Amino acid sequence: MEGWGPRSPRIEERGSQGETHLEEKRGLEAALAFSGNQEAVALTDRYVMQTYARFPLALVRGEGCRVWDADGKAYLDFVAGLAVCNLGHCHPRVVEAIRAQAGRLLHVSNLYHIPQQALLARKIVENSFGDRVFFCNSGAEANEGAIKLARRYERFVRGGSRFEILAMRNSFHGRTLGALTATGQEKFHKGFEPLVPGFRYVPFDDPDALEKAVGPDTCAVILEPIQGEGGVVCPSQGYLREVRRICDDHDLMLLFDEVQVGMGRTGTLFAYEQYGVKPDVMTLAKGLAGGVPIGALVATEEAARGFAPGAHAATFGGNPLAAAAGLAALEALLEEGLLENCRRAGALLRRGLEDLAARRPGQVRQVRGKGLILGLELEEPGAPVVKACMEAGLLINCTAERVLRFLPPLVVTAAEIEEMLQILDRALSVQAVAGGKQA
Ligand code: PLP
Repeated sequence: MEGWGPRSPRIEERGSQGETHLEEKRGLEAALAFSGNQEAVALTDRYVMQTYARFPLALVRGEGCRVWDADGKAYLDFVAGLAVCNLGHCHPRVVEAIRAQAGRLLHVSNLYHIPQQALLARKIVENSFGDRVFFCNSGAEANEGAIKLARRYERFVRGGSRFEILAMRNSFHGRTLGALTATGQEKFHKGFEPLVPGFRYVPFDDPDALEKAVGPDTCAVILEPIQGEGGVVCPSQGYLREVRRICDDHDLMLLFDEVQVGMGRTGTLFAYEQYGVKPDVMTLAKGLAGGVPIGALVATEEAARGFAPGAHAATFGGNPLAAAAGLAALEALLEEGLLENCRRAGALLRRGLEDLAARRPGQVRQVRGKGLILGLELEEPGAPVVKACMEAGLLINCTAERVLRFLPPLVVTAAEIEEMLQILDRALSVQAVAGGKQA
């Protein structure tokens, strides 16, 4: 499988990585005044609020599909910041754009025009169904914006009083109260009640249930075209078309959350393209700015009428630094063959996972996903496999308890996929032996 891959710089093309890394590691240690993973773990445990069950390593450097921890150990990264680092770590065009912008102007208020923001909005509009973009700072914030836009459109444009949003079971939309309420998983709600009024849940991939659930108060439907956190769950091919029809028939706004599956992750720039269905509003974040925090709400001209000056805002939204990074990241994504690489690498990874699944019938249930968001559903919890992979120098994620999720940078090569499959195969053998399953 030599000879294919995007045109972005490859780690092996950049010379003696080991030496450079050691020098940088020394510099970083001096700057941060900690000696390695252990000390970073102790610092976090002492001073950071305990909201994450973190692995005991501190990642301090990244390049392409590799990251290094504070002890100097290298990892092949198939987590990519949970679908953020789609261009690979520290893509040179993004790094250069950030450096240049940081020296010119970091931040100004949205009281003034921000050219980088307008350029990024134009680039998104030119490459999507959308006509207008609002920028914010995260996926949850983008979804809050989508919910507010749907409700305000109903009030001020349509002149109605509907307010209810239908959301999907097993979905994930973020941790702020509105996005959390839209998230159809009780485990995330516990302790935060009362939630935001005006949400109801229906099963994903069930158009009849959706249509039956539409009531006199319903004004919008929100869903992820592919449920990422919920276990990489893809809908049946005709489902999203049916959802679009239901929304049109009942005059509902259709909101797609592409926070995880947008920005090339499925092999097209946006996941809706895979299903031939356009929403009225789409939310983006994660991969949009190559690792710099950003969120965006993309809407048709009609849907965008729901907002007027003063209706919605974000201090940092689309500031010069984030927008410059976003513009560089989107240009790199579109100009460096990364969508094509995602499709090829995705097909290769999928074949490898399917082959592995076929050899482990009692251990692996199913392979699913699109492009480079792939899931391997196991019969048993996946945490021990994640741990064994980490020890062997591979980062993967487990979601929905039993689904190993693979989200490598879209620049991943055939050799890196092969390396990851070999490590995974060994880790699954360890789990099989420990669990008494046939390997
Ligand atoms: N929506 C989806 C589909 C996500 O996967 C996530 C995060 O994983 C979010 C929203 C929340 O994004 P953020 O963590 O940037 O608020």
